[in-house]
Amino acid sequence: MTTVFTKILNKEIPGHIIYEDDNFFALLDIFPKGKGHTLLIPKLEVVDLFELPDDLVSEIMVVAKKISSIIKETLEADAIKLMQNNGKAAGQEVMHYHLHIIPFYEDSSKNNDKENLEKVAERLKRAFK
Ligand code: AMP
Repeated sequence: MTTVFTKILNKEIPGHIIYEDDNFFALLDIFPKGKGHTLLIPKLEVVDLFELPDDLVSEIMVVAKKISSIIKETLEADAIKLMQNNGKAAGQEVMHYHLHIIPFYEDSSKNNDKENLEKVAERLKRAFK
């Protein structure tokens, strides 16, 4: 299978990848629930948590912590929500494991900030360098 996320990683279709290492990449969600909404994705094409090898289950939380803290600082978010759906009935739409990293702001108008994805991607990519 080649998922939509792998196609973005392989540059077959466009997307804003803000971070990449040997095992994971982080992509801005195309329909953000908050400014900086990011998906952390294993390069290995597995459907969900139950298919993700245990070493990657551990590693992804360490990467998520690092990425969340950089997003929080760069975008001056007040809080970060981590969320992950396993299975259609839980709301999973893309069948390639992904961990949602969603920034939130005390000033709720900022949760709907429409700063475009490109600008947010530029700021975050710079922060990861
Ligand atoms: P889930 O419901 O947990 O499977 O979440 C799938 C997420 O992937 C949704 O938040 C979508 O907005 C997001 N998404 C779907 N297609 C793309 C895409 N081409 N680029 C970035 N995000 C996407």
